[in-house]
Amino acid sequence: MTAPVVVTTRAQLDQHLAPARRAGERVALVPTMGALHEGHASLLRVAREHVGDGPVVVSIFVNPTQFGAGEDLDRYPRTLAADLELCEKEGVDVVLHPEVAEMYPHGTGSDDGVMVRPGPLAKELEGRTRKGHFRGVLTVVAKLFGTVRPDVAVFGQKDYQQLVLVRRMVEDLCLGVEVVGAPTQREPDGLALSSRNAYLDPEQRQQATALSRTLYAAVEAAEYGPGPALDAARAVLRESDGVDLDYLELRTPTLGPLPDDVPPGTEARILVAARVGSTRLIDNLPITLGTDPS
Ligand code: AMP
Repeated sequence: MTAPVVVTTRAQLDQHLAPARRAGERVALVPTMGALHEGHASLLRVAREHVGDGPVVVSIFVNPTQFGAGEDLDRYPRTLAADLELCEKEGVDVVLHPEVAEMYPHGTGSDDGVMVRPGPLAKELEGRTRKGHFRGVLTVVAKLFGTVRPDVAVFGQKDYQQLVLVRRMVEDLCLGVEVVGAPTQREPDGLALSSRNAYLDPEQRQQATALSRTLYAAVEAAEYGPGPALDAARAVLRESDGVDLDYLELRTPTLGPLPDDVPPGTEARILVAARVGSTRLIDNLPITLGTDPS
């Protein structure tokens, strides 16, 4: 394997992508904040499947505008050397690792430049506690799309609301990028891989399994309908120490509200967010609902 080229500016990136563009190859982008793990690696493999011999570009950028006051921007793990090793192992062609000033030439304040307004879904679920989060996410994704001009971009279903909102942005702003959602990679005990798992001490790491156990309990009970599915999930949460629930919700696959009466076989999404110690964790699963017997 050859090491990926690391670039910090759009001009350098253009230079490296020019031959592939001239040859008519497809370009893939996988946006990340670094601290790469097997979840990210799986996205890189999905990206490769979509472009064949075309270039796979990974961006590593801890985006300040998606962190709220008091969130973990300063302590977010930064592990560039290990990230580059993982990228090399996965056959990544180019790593884009820009400075904040390259991405935000007019500053990162909420009134400093043009930003994307993400619409009403951004105020729900994650947006209820993380005000302005999706405005920051969609703004940086739009900038990355403009910088890399990918044909296809791969996002994890782990951040499901983000995936849905990116799809909406591409549609509403006519960005012409194919958005692929890749399945969540998990530890053997079910915990979704996350860069933030590094914050958990051994006891919290054990407690954190409550999120995925909650979701799987709902999936198991889902044949009896949405009510029993949520009851089963809540029963797991009640028995879980150290887990401070933020939300547990059943939604449509595009995160709209579920109708009161769901026909058997309705595809839905169950989403959970909770704090374990001071670490906020999220998880979600697809779920097929049966009919509520009540
Ligand atoms: P992050 O670096 O945490 O911003 O994540 C970068 C991308 O990796 C996002 O599209 C995430 O949804 C995705 N991702 C994070 N964790 C996982 C996981 N456990 N499985 C699959 N994708 C993931």
